[in-house]
Amino acid sequence: MFYPQEFDVIVVGGGHAGTEAALAAARMGCKTLLLTHNIETLGQMSCNPSIGGIGKGHLVKEVDAMGGAMALATDEGGIQFRILNSSKGPAVRATRAQADRILYKAAIRRRLENQPNLWLFQQAVDDLMVEGERVVGAVTQVGIRFRARTVVLTAGTFLDGKIHVGLNNYAAGRAGDPPALSLSARLKELKLPQGRLKTGTPPRIDGRSIDFSKCTVQPGDGMPGGTEGPVPVFSFMGGQIAHPQQMPCWITHTNERTHDIIRSGFDRSPMFTGKIDGVGPRYCPSVEDKINRFADKDSHQIFLEPEGLTTHEIYPNGISTSLPFDIQYDLVRSMAGMENAHILRPGYAIEYDYFDPRSLKSNFETRAIGGLFFAGQINGTTGYEEAAAQGMFAGINAALQCQGKEAWCPKRDEAYLGVLVDDLITKGVTEPYRMFTSRAEFRLMLREDNADARLTEKGRELGLVDDARWDAFNRKRDAVSRETQRLQSIWVNPNSLPVAEAERVLGKAIEREYNLADLLRRPDVNYAGLMSMNEGQYANAEIPTGQNHAAEEGVSRETSGGALPADLIKSVIEQIEITAKYAGYINLQKEEVERASHYENLKLPADLDYLQVSALSFEARQTLAKHRPETLGMASRISGITPATVSLLLVHLKKNL
Ligand code: FAD
Repeated sequence: MFYPQEFDVIVVGGGHAGTEAALAAARMGCKTLLLTHNIETLGQMSCNPSIGGIGKGHLVKEVDAMGGAMALATDEGGIQFRILNSSKGPAVRATRAQADRILYKAAIRRRLENQPNLWLFQQAVDDLMVEGERVVGAVTQVGIRFRARTVVLTAGTFLDGKIHVGLNNYAAGRAGDPPALSLSARLKELKLPQGRLKTGTPPRIDGRSIDFSKCTVQPGDGMPGGTEGPVPVFSFMGGQIAHPQQMPCWITHTNERTHDIIRSGFDRSPMFTGKIDGVGPRYCPSVEDKINRFADKDSHQIFLEPEGLTTHEIYPNGISTSLPFDIQYDLVRSMAGMENAHILRPGYAIEYDYFDPRSLKSNFETRAIGGLFFAGQINGTTGYEEAAAQGMFAGINAALQCQGKEAWCPKRDEAYLGVLVDDLITKGVTEPYRMFTSRAEFRLMLREDNADARLTEKGRELGLVDDARWDAFNRKRDAVSRETQRLQSIWVNPNSLPVAEAERVLGKAIEREYNLADLLRRPDVNYAGLMSMNEGQYANAEIPTGQNHAAEEGVSRETSGGALPADLIKSVIEQIEITAKYAGYINLQKEEVERASHYENLKLPADLDYLQVSALSFEARQTLAKHRPETLGMASRISGITPATVSLLLVHLKKNL
């Protein structure tokens, strides 16, 4: 039957990509349908219950800055938070949280169920409806035909999924879930270029059978024994959502015996016996891969991470494996504290179809079929955060297409999302792609802390950011701007700043007049120090630091003297300090972006016949004809395209256009 209503956007798959895609399209006012196998698994974390980390945390903050759900759900479900690289530069500082998987899923589902313009429907999608060269809807397992103007496909690891444990294997989307076989076959018929990838997960352990006294405890930030201070938050909405109870993790290690046990299973490993064809993530290898590749290492750290507050289940991060179960059993029990460990769920590897992202346009619409967008693991990536960011991106662009508006494609200097999309569509993948800060050439500009400054205004313009977020954003932006101007207007000189006071705060006396903004640029000077100078004379009652008089006199942060809320104070000070200290480097990067921008954004004609550009080598012509980059910048990043080719192409364009 044809479902009686038509939709603007259908999203297939309720994982991390699908949920953000559906929420984004609905927030933008499009009538959206999320079709997924099982409503109970909306927002399910297939592997480790953690969100963020270096590069990944940056993506989560960007999704949040545009009104997405992942950071808020993590704040709601997070049972341990840490700021990684906290002693390093701000570009590589990143938030990571351990989440209670039940609370996380519930937080995502509640947001979906309460989102206006969004309908949920539980059914497997077996087919796409295609008319001419355009998708017009999706057909479910029982033959319900849903019509829509666009379809966003986010099927994750489910397309022709095959699980391996030792030499045994079976069809599945992930353990306990069905594979998507019919849809996979249909996509093959549509001749969308594809390949096989694989990923894996460790066995899960019953925490009651672990002797934690033999392990090293690892508290989160703000917990006893952890980094002092408040527990970090993920969302720019700050501490509006209270975290649940916080829990520690623990650390144990593999040893020589563990490695011998693992090696003894190599002859029954699906990886080493050729049962698995798909390529796995190099940066998140299985334990057997680690032992094989780094044979000289006699120990690896294994993090024992709680899966939630209401379960004893523990995720042993670092022993992802598809070795036979008897080997898994022995290897787990060979580690300190795990001598009596009971395995609740065996580890496994999963192989699945992915689609070559080079066959996508820069808005993630497939080149072959109009209105069909792909996002998430299906594009060859790995990770919840990469999936969420892509999902939001595809949801936005599907909605924009329905609204007859131009696509939104953030540039590489605007967002990690821009880096992710550009990398995927220009370079493709040879292994599951994950985000790192090293992938971003302008990473000093793309920090976690300024994701809101980079993207919230755009999000508001697109209709993604609600009034509460917009107000909070403006409050912060205005406070930063007011305080920066105030610091620039306060001048101190050798007379007004006594030597002893200058030495205490600045490390040495000043020899001439400076304003406070200039002094803040010095490496060892901080905002709180400046505010404490001359008995707190320069302090701002709106931004008490805990060291200036206003705070010492017990001014309430919420009410007195118009002081900002505590979490906002922290982020305002952070912005002021980072912007002052890194201004020189940031300006250099901005100049670099400006210099490159002309060629970076130079549009290549959609009908350019590369095969006829005789100045180019035959290989370059073929590569460009195959990938059809949209801009010269994109052309320059296609593998095999050299700077010389780009120059020749530019000469050709200048001559012929
Ligand atoms: P998924 O989260 O897989 O969601 C896909 C959704 O689509 C599911 O809800 C599914 O039911 C639905 N669906 C699929 N086909 C259909 C259909 N035909 N009809 C209706 N609904 C459909 N990432 C890491 O970062 N680190 C890891 O160590 C890691 N290990 C992993 C181990 C395993 C075993 C698995 C399975 C994944 C692992 N991942 C890991 C990857 C991570 O889970 C994914 O990157 C992430 O979940 C991808 O999100 P997604 O939304 O693209 O897909």
